[in-house]
Amino acid sequence: MHDDETGIVTRSGERRLRWSAAAVALPLFGVVAAFGTAEHVPEPIPVRTVIEPLALSATPVGDSGTIIYFQEDRFRRGDTLTTLIERLGADEDEAATLLRSSRAARPFRLLLPGTTVRAKVDEVGKLRSISFLTDRDTILSVDRLGESFGRFEQQAEVTRGMEMKSGEIETSLFAATDAAGIPDGIAVELADIFGGDVDFHRDLRRGDRFGVVFETFYHGGQTIRSGRVLAAEFSSQRRTYRAVWFQDPWGRGGYYTPDGENLRKVFLRSPLEFSRITSEFGLRRHPIFQQWRAHQGVDYGASGGTRVKSTGDGVVSFVGRRNGYGNLIVIRHHAGYSTYYAHLRNFALGLRAGSRVVQGEIIGYVGQTGWASGPHLHYEFHLHNQNRNPLTMAFPAAQPILAIELAAFRRTAEPLIARLDLLKNGDLALLE
Ligand SMILES: [Zn+2]
Repeated sequence: MHDDETGIVTRSGERRLRWSAAAVALPLFGVVAAFGTAEHVPEPIPVRTVIEPLALSATPVGDSGTIIYFQEDRFRRGDTLTTLIERLGADEDEAATLLRSSRAARPFRLLLPGTTVRAKVDEVGKLRSISFLTDRDTILSVDRLGESFGRFEQQAEVTRGMEMKSGEIETSLFAATDAAGIPDGIAVELADIFGGDVDFHRDLRRGDRFGVVFETFYHGGQTIRSGRVLAAEFSSQRRTYRAVWFQDPWGRGGYYTPDGENLRKVFLRSPLEFSRITSEFGLRRHPIFQQWRAHQGVDYGASGGTRVKSTGDGVVSFVGRRNGYGNLIVIRHHAGYSTYYAHLRNFALGLRAGSRVVQGEIIGYVGQTGWASGPHLHYEFHLHNQNRNPLTMAFPAAQPILAIELAAFRRTAEPLIARLDLLKNGDLALLE
């Protein structure tokens, strides 16, 4: 009786058609999009074929004399379980019955807007079953058992696939990733992957291009979430950076250049957490002050409360108020380096002198304490107590791929690099 998955084949079939159409149409808008469907390019991830009973949504299916309709809708903001059930075609009494059997229906009260809910309703409007996919990748369903309802949960059939997308920066990274249909999480990851080389708050220019190959998980023909970035490219006028994800036999993963160099640097280029909000400051220049100025620091304009990251591993040597700096954090790193983060609104909870921090850890929040005319982060970079310009410093990279891992790395990297090449050349014909 748990045939919640009916409709998968039809739906994914429909989607595939639409995807091909999109891949052809999108380049007209300066965005290239394509979906890895395995046949014509190297495909390291096996895409499992879903073979399940075929039934169209809202199509009658015989079931011991009665007709069952499969319905599907999204839970909307402002919906109650009752309004949703009505929209799915069951009558009001049915909703009430379901709600009364409170224990079985309880998980449905935690539904988030946007979640797809499927229902089976018979010809007289009797609700037979209602189900949705949980964030644990299980299907939770409440099924009619005679005159009452019971709750069931089973592992969902989740398919892993690969998506390839590329775009060009016009106003901000997020504007470009939105246009390419790239999820926010992937956009942020892109900024993180290249965070040792590129400051996405400061270095982006109109015309910069990116390509990204990432995992996507599907259920019932619908994308349920994106996974990891497997490969990425970022090209500015000055140079092109490429990254490939590789995990060694001990499970330690990281991003490497096609030559096996580590993308991770001893310091991040930017101490500001990259987000949809901070990305908006990108190409406007103001209020990011571009220069390493007379006061020997770099100022990042950002809304108050924007999260500030430690640019490297280290130990906190000062947290507190210090005259013009306002709320200040000083972190001592290895080999005589230290970094300063000033004008903070407040500090990360529990941070104190002596605390160990790792690169990328959130240490505080942008504010305008001390001598600051507006909210911004003042960032300084010192070597042996002398100010250095972090905009022009070259930072050493973390450990490259070990010699004994190189062969395995190349096997992983080659097909991914081939995909980046396809994206770069916009050669979608090869993917069709
Ligand atoms: Zn400053």
